[in-house]
Amino acid sequence: MESFSAANFKPVVEKCAGCDRIVEQLGNQYCQTYMNPEAKWRLGLCNFATHAKPEIVVTKVRLNPLKAAKRASASKKK
Ligand code: SF4
Repeated sequence: MESFSAANFKPVVEKCAGCDRIVEQLGNQYCQTYMNPEAKWRLGLCNFATHAKPEIVVTKVRLNPLKAAKRASASKKK
């Protein structure tokens, strides 16, 4: 396997700790996905991080189909 350091990979940054994409080679930890993990985190969350995910807020809009149909037909009458 080619050495990560030989391929100019930069070691992972502190925020990468816990990520499944970290591989260890010769005592250094590298990211399998990015050559420069620091740059990934400079822009915010690393989008490939397996340990840190942005909160996904799912807002469910509950619609009662019957009421919606009634509303629709009522507005047509006006
Ligand atoms: S995927 Fe992102 S968080 Fe994980 S090791 Fe690579 S740069 Fe770090």
